[in-house]
Amino acid sequence: MSTLEPTAAPRPLVEPTPGQDKDEAIYLHLHTAIFEAHLTPGTRLPEDALSRSFGVSRTIIRKVLQRLGHEGLVEIRPNRGAVVGEPSVDESREVFATRKILECGAMAEVIMRATEADLKALAAIVAQEDAAQKDGDRPAAIRLSGEFHVRLAEITANGILARTVSALVARSSLIIATYGSPISTSCRHSEHTEIITLIRAGKTEAAAAWMAEHLDRVESGFAYSENAPKPPGLEEILQRVAPRVPRKRLL
Ligand SMILES: [Zn+2]
Repeated sequence: MSTLEPTAAPRPLVEPTPGQDKDEAIYLHLHTAIFEAHLTPGTRLPEDALSRSFGVSRTIIRKVLQRLGHEGLVEIRPNRGAVVGEPSVDESREVFATRKILECGAMAEVIMRATEADLKALAAIVAQEDAAQKDGDRPAAIRLSGEFHVRLAEITANGILARTVSALVARSSLIIATYGSPISTSCRHSEHTEIITLIRAGKTEAAAAWMAEHLDRVESGFAYSENAPKPPGLEEILQRVAPRVPRKRLL
């Protein structure tokens, strides 16, 4: 488990763009760091270290962490502070099962509403994904593959559906970081191209079936095991120790 090292001197990491709140800029910075797996599951996010790094009060940091908590990227544990979310195997399976229900179920609506501009936007994301994979830029490839699924859900114009898919995609980035192979990314861009082709052809059933197949393939790339032992905590270590009665001193 890694920990954020506090910086030696207060040096703001982010400068908000005009019209952007400072807390929004910090939120985006941390969101990207987690979504692209620079900060890996289980990393502690101490408020004091973050407030020094970003040069803001702990109140602002707490607000940002709570927002990331609502989105499932951060877990806030009583008395232990915030850590980057660590999805369990059961939860990961549930995330992908839910994504299948929603993203396949949305396909009829997507096909009904998709405009030429929507399809172009999807194709542009796939092209960027392709470039990121060629450059070996795994963080960008993970982010873009997630973006493809979120953009697709947005075509439905159903805000609740789009926000739910977006939260599940964010959680999926933690699943990829936890169980994915270091060389794989989340989706194969050629499979995304196939989805666009089926949407363009208006083939609802085939598009839904292909989406299910696609999400199954992504999931089949995960090594679902909780065999990798976590470093034991202090309490656990102390429980293992059988105290020895000290030898009586001779003198
Ligand atoms: Zn995908």
